[in-house]
Amino acid sequence: MKIQKIDIFYFDIPLREPFKISIGTMRGANNVLVKIFTDSGLFGLGEACPFPPITGETQETNIAAARSLRDLLIGKDPLAVGQFVREAGSFLRSNPSIVGAFDMALYDILGKASSLPLFRLLGGADRPLETDITADLDSPKKMAAKAKRFVAAGYKKIKIKVGQDPDLDVARLEAIRDSIGYGKEISIDANQGWTVPQAVSALKRMEKYKIQYVEQPVVAWDLTGLRAVRQQSPIPVMADEALFSPHDAVRLVREDACDYFNIKLMKSGGISNALKIAHVGESANIRAMVGCMLETRLALTAAAHLMAAQNNIIFADLDGNASHTLDPVRGGMIVRGGAITLPQEPGLGLDIDPAFLKKLPKV
Ligand code: MG
Repeated sequence: MKIQKIDIFYFDIPLREPFKISIGTMRGANNVLVKIFTDSGLFGLGEACPFPPITGETQETNIAAARSLRDLLIGKDPLAVGQFVREAGSFLRSNPSIVGAFDMALYDILGKASSLPLFRLLGGADRPLETDITADLDSPKKMAAKAKRFVAAGYKKIKIKVGQDPDLDVARLEAIRDSIGYGKEISIDANQGWTVPQAVSALKRMEKYKIQYVEQPVVAWDLTGLRAVRQQSPIPVMADEALFSPHDAVRLVREDACDYFNIKLMKSGGISNALKIAHVGESANIRAMVGCMLETRLALTAAAHLMAAQNNIIFADLDGNASHTLDPVRGGMIVRGGAITLPQEPGLGLDIDPAFLKKLPKV
């Protein structure tokens, strides 16, 4: 089997409202869609969601990198995903999201060629999967109202963005617990917003609100600081922005810097490296979450397949499309009240609505 043609599309999805976190605000999901065609008639789909405040990529840098990756792949064997990841090389550092889109599309083809849904191909079981849903930064009152709506919609776990002034962050949690009670799980995400002393003090004050874990309390590059927070925090610490690659995972283990990993296909550069990170975590007794940026159900479904395939991934934060104004994906995973149902068709088990695809600007 050979790769015959690759289409690259601007894949813009408007948001109902801007998505605000401590290090920036996203006003739209400016994604990139990749469609890889083979000479056997099979095709694979992949999606990149560049999130500039976190990965330093933009839609335009992803498009430019996609042109080079396309040149790399034309005429090659689509089933040799490992070879692609090696050859993609330093693109992984500069543009992990678009490498992730190509990797995902190749896994889609691999699943279709094997007549197996991706989670089966990866040796997974059809087990119950549950995702949380995120309340982004706003006033304590508005975040509490949002959390209440999520609980009414059936969600068992709510993720709360924090990472601004610690007093305001504590007030957010107080308002949210007052509003939803203590029957649901809560996790928090500071997105690098605190200093080490701020994090230690804020987390001690937040202990009474029963927080499952805190994501990335301090700046991504400060592993010593992350470890210091972990040593003094009553709340377990999850590495997110400090964890892109399998090498980062090894470093976090060596530094004893976290209790959990947050694995995202947009940081790792796709499923191949996400699997390696999951394996490092499992080997070091560090459980993981699978997270996302602002992807559609295309990349979210790929992430759910990964979770089903890895028992060590025990949490999911796969709500990237929660504020999308439209859903262009046909098939794929279904989420009801946080419960994820995976498709049983081969590969990712999805397609893009042909009428929507026709309207996308092609590169
Ligand atoms: Mg995070």
